[in-house]
Amino acid sequence: MKVTLRQVTKAFGATPVLRGISLEVAPHELFFLLGPSGCGKTTLLRLIAGFYQPDAGEVWFGDRCMNGVPPHRRNTGMVFQNYALWPHLTVAENVGYGLEVRRVPRAERAQRVAEALAIVQMQDYAERTPNQLSGGQQQRVALARALVIRPDVLLLDEPLSNLDARLRLEMREEIRRIHRQTRITTIYVTHDQKEALSLADRLAVLRDGQIEQVGDPRTVYRTPVTRFVADFIGETNWLPATVLEAGADRSRLQTPVGVFEAGPAGQRRVGEAVWLGFRPEAVRLGPGPVNALLTRIRSVTYLGEIEQYLLELADGTPLKAVEPNPDQIRPAGAPLPVHVRPGDLFLLPRQAN
Ligand code: ATP
Repeated sequence: MKVTLRQVTKAFGATPVLRGISLEVAPHELFFLLGPSGCGKTTLLRLIAGFYQPDAGEVWFGDRCMNGVPPHRRNTGMVFQNYALWPHLTVAENVGYGLEVRRVPRAERAQRVAEALAIVQMQDYAERTPNQLSGGQQQRVALARALVIRPDVLLLDEPLSNLDARLRLEMREEIRRIHRQTRITTIYVTHDQKEALSLADRLAVLRDGQIEQVGDPRTVYRTPVTRFVADFIGETNWLPATVLEAGADRSRLQTPVGVFEAGPAGQRRVGEAVWLGFRPEAVRLGPGPVNALLTRIRSVTYLGEIEQYLLELADGTPLKAVEPNPDQIRPAGAPLPVHVRPGDLFLLPRQAN
């Protein structure tokens, strides 16, 4: 089922929460709404579910406008952060509840509940009550309950945020597997960029009720269109720069710490003031042929699989770097040459933030 939003706006009282959201989620897509707390993600999800109506704009499922259609007529399945299971019902009863409401005959109900529990691998727990289950198991039941109605659209609101780190990783894999198996159009709200990067077919980054960027994880991570997106989706080093040369496949930039070579200039023009951005993992330790910098080590943090460096450029600008598979000790205060490949740099207009 394709989901289309057209210029959707929503305010609570005098506070605008969604300010003209237009979006197309393709059939079978696993689509993420990503953004900081308060940016309007949950409001947007509830609006798609039908719990809220937009003040202006339209919500479409396929070729049907859903404005005014109540939640129970939209055939969406929703999973909440806190599972929202009935404590006094068994797992099977919880999952079957939505079918009972829809007056599905008993025999079919039992079969569909069994199927849904099998999808989330909880078939052995059908007779337990929620308080006899772990958090991860409860979340599987909540997923089964959403899937059992065979929704056209599955809506997930921070489904993993109540789980511990290890379980979160495990459930990420589960959600990916279940999505591959069911191919249900899924819209997933989170503020966890790793969750979005690791699972999304595409994602939208929201800020203050507006969409800043839509794209697949690699594109958004490697070519963010604003500083906000770059900083939200990962760590970024920024240098102020001026464009010296703006070519179709390469550009040159003047920064306070020397001239940089970067990839295509895109929309940037000679003389323009820009931000030059690059990720900590793009900083390669050791000397290099281009974009070489001499730094001094401010501090080092060993994390096992990587080592995090806080470096300092000649003019005092801090620079973050990471080294995978760290195998040598470099003391704070020591000089460290580094370099950045031109293709790992991104250019943003200085006025964009
Ligand atoms: P979080 O990750 O913290 O849940 P969010 O991005 O999902 O954040 P929303 O829950 O959509 O954000 O809230 C967006 C804004 O709208 C917030 O400022 C919130 O206080 C406000 N808001 C949300 N629901 C209501 C409501 N029912 N009445 C009034 N204000 C609301």
